[in-house]
Amino acid sequence: MKAVVLENKGVLSYKEVSIPDPAPGHLRLKVKAISICGSDIKRYVDGHRIYPLILGHETSGIIDRVGEGVGEIYLGKHAAIIPLVPCFECEQCQRGYYSACHSYSFIGSRQAGGFAEYVDLPERNAFLLPDEMSFEHAALIEPSTVARHMLALGDFKRDQTAIVLGAGSIGLMIVQWLRILGADQIIVTDILEDNLQIASKIGAHITLNPSKVDVVKEVQKLLGDGADLTLEATGVPQVLEQTLPITRPRGKVVLAGNQPLDKSLPLTFIENMMRREISLSGCFMSYSAPFPGHEWTETITALLDGSLDMESLISHRFPLSKAPDIFEKIGAHQLAHQKIILNPEEAA
Ligand SMILES: [Zn+2]
Ligand SMILES: [Zn+2]
Repeated sequence: MKAVVLENKGVLSYKEVSIPDPAPGHLRLKVKAISICGSDIKRYVDGHRIYPLILGHETSGIIDRVGEGVGEIYLGKHAAIIPLVPCFECEQCQRGYYSACHSYSFIGSRQAGGFAEYVDLPERNAFLLPDEMSFEHAALIEPSTVARHMLALGDFKRDQTAIVLGAGSIGLMIVQWLRILGADQIIVTDILEDNLQIASKIGAHITLNPSKVDVVKEVQKLLGDGADLTLEATGVPQVLEQTLPITRPRGKVVLAGNQPLDKSLPLTFIENMMRREISLSGCFMSYSAPFPGHEWTETITALLDGSLDMESLISHRFPLSKAPDIFEKIGAHQLAHQKIILNPEEAA
């Protein structure tokens, strides 16, 4: 089969590899649609610890083969990949904190992923879909679950006010979940006007461009003491620092942007957090008990009833064979994009 393999830092190739045969307890997905995640791009640009590796975890397809012990009832069913493979035995798995598992694997990061014609997964990692659901939209289920998980961590309640920092793919999913769950006021910031336009289309009430306005001052004008909930999805240290002055006393901040590890924050950040009694939560992935969690089932419901708009988030579609070119362009900042869908069947 053909697959897109990360061979080394900045080296991606589209090549022939052996087709997986599902192990006992596993099944095989014939891939129909793949979406490129920011983390795939990061693994390509910054390098990764495992080579060679087939990237990709935002993937949907049709189950075409089952391993020993897996019912043939799965054959022909549509599914999306649940990428986290927890051990289900350690202390954290017992508590249902699967993303804190002591010995997890992850499809597309620690084992072969979905940038391929076929992918092997444990039975529990196939998230079954209704036949009528678009494969492209189903490939975007995983990033939606991360956004939904952030709102759960921030204890979001209907009629609260919220600020979303960053209107990339996770930010735009957060905006939609805030709209679906009934936020009173949704303010979104981004330095790219295109991203802000999409945010307005899918539910933001107010958009602010930090390259044009002072976000802290604008929020004070709009919300007085700040928002009930602030969601950080940029990974930019200066933006992280702004989360506290735009959040009301006793408000909540949830962090999901990956920050540069060589930077630091002044301890005025902690002082501000203490004085305003703000709760700060980290977010890592999107799982809760029972596995994979309500984040996943709610995403399916919101997709089926039309409240979750995936179409507006897709900016490009390419054959899988073009992935090395596309990653090169993205790495060189030559391709402005939102969600990019890859299709293995159009591969040349
Ligand atoms: Zn992802
Ligand atoms: Zn575990």
